[in-house]
Amino acid sequence: MALAAVSSAVVIGLSGHVVRIEADVSPGLPGFHLIGLPDTVTAQTRDRVRAAILNSGWDWPDQRITVNVLPSELPKYGSALDLAIAVAILAAAGTMPTEPLAHTAFLGELGLDGSLRHVRGLPSAIRALIVYGARAVVVPVASTTHTGQWAVIPASSLTDLVKQLTNGARATVPNPPATAVDVPELDLADLPGNQAAKDALEISAAGGHHLLLQGRGPCAALAACLPGILPPLEDTSHTEVSEIHSLTETPWQDRRRPLCAPHHTSTAAAIFGRRGLGLVRPGAVSLAHAGVLFLDEAPEFARSILDGLRYPLDTGEVILADAGGILHLPARFQLLLATHPCPCDTTSCHCGTGEQRRYLNRLTTLRERIELTAPLEPHDWTAEPGESTAIVAERVVEARARAAHRLKGTPRQTNAEIPGLELRSTHRLDPDALDPLDTPLRSGTITPAAMTQILRVAWTLADLRAAARPGKDDTHQALLLWRGEPL
Ligand SMILES: [Zn+2]
Repeated sequence: MALAAVSSAVVIGLSGHVVRIEADVSPGLPGFHLIGLPDTVTAQTRDRVRAAILNSGWDWPDQRITVNVLPSELPKYGSALDLAIAVAILAAAGTMPTEPLAHTAFLGELGLDGSLRHVRGLPSAIRALIVYGARAVVVPVASTTHTGQWAVIPASSLTDLVKQLTNGARATVPNPPATAVDVPELDLADLPGNQAAKDALEISAAGGHHLLLQGRGPCAALAACLPGILPPLEDTSHTEVSEIHSLTETPWQDRRRPLCAPHHTSTAAAIFGRRGLGLVRPGAVSLAHAGVLFLDEAPEFARSILDGLRYPLDTGEVILADAGGILHLPARFQLLLATHPCPCDTTSCHCGTGEQRRYLNRLTTLRERIELTAPLEPHDWTAEPGESTAIVAERVVEARARAAHRLKGTPRQTNAEIPGLELRSTHRLDPDALDPLDTPLRSGTITPAAMTQILRVAWTLADLRAAARPGKDDTHQALLLWRGEPL
């Protein structure tokens, strides 16, 4: 055999693209020519593949070796093609059988010793290959936690792979589909007190409303309960979440909604993501997709970051641009903010209302997107344990089902997504439901945009108490929640 061809794939953004690799080993001046890869990666790839083959115990063909990576116009960076290139050379040189190559694809980086190393973005790459017609995809053993629900052949090294293929290896599914939702690590019942914050958490989960917790208290612990209160990811979101997280070191396998809590010293790249040399690093806004983005000590984040959050909040995506072009990543998350009343700690604080206002004003640009504000208090260990996460989650699921039923036929699923005009024209309220909003509207203390937010929350309150539509009490309560006043 002097000629062999195998399939592999590269990931650009979130999508996988199939790559064909042809190898020709023929008599002539000995040499190794690798065509179709960017100059910056060609030399490294050549060195890794050659060392891996030699260190696995095979002879390096003393002939003219030409490897062509197609299509030539695709930007192919990264090291995921190493394995496929090595296999193509071994097959062309007659070292391994060629029959298994027809319907098998190969993904993996090679170590100099011939071991196989994990590569990013595997689910998208595997999906592209299966759609293309591959019946089995060989992946590094270390990557089987990232392969989602696809059937794969895990291999630990080049020698292990050749042995498996010679013996007729079959693909298996390393991660059968998840059937149960994980029990959350922290339960609401573990956190005594803070009933107002817990109520707000429930309302925000039921309607998808962005929430601000204000005060000094266990906000991180409460935030950790939120994914447990939210309904599990449905299929489409689960696929998106797995694909985004496969671009990182930690894959996302279960149906729980992600909670992403970046520190306030985070850079813009950490929050919004970055791309370069074909690699995409999703930021916190994308890692929180379909889940929760929690910003503790929110006013301490850089102004540019707080302002920049408006785009994903309004559009549900983030745009990463570099010389290679523009890339859209999903970034539709529920925002949970927490803030102290001022920048000092309790013992040293002498802040007046002026200082406090200036501190909270740093959140002004986000305030317009926040529909709920609730007070946060220290743990009250004398308080009753309160309801468990499971009980609250049950009410949230029922309320969300009511909203989803009402919104059938629209692309929306939660009350927070309903545009103002649609809300006022098609969602009928009780006749006196608008009464509590009369005075503040006339005096200008709430704007028409704020009124939309208040009505969205009023609908969620009605859904939570299984009412057909919001009444006066719901709009009144929604107004207080919008203002952050005690109920
Ligand atoms: Zn202070």
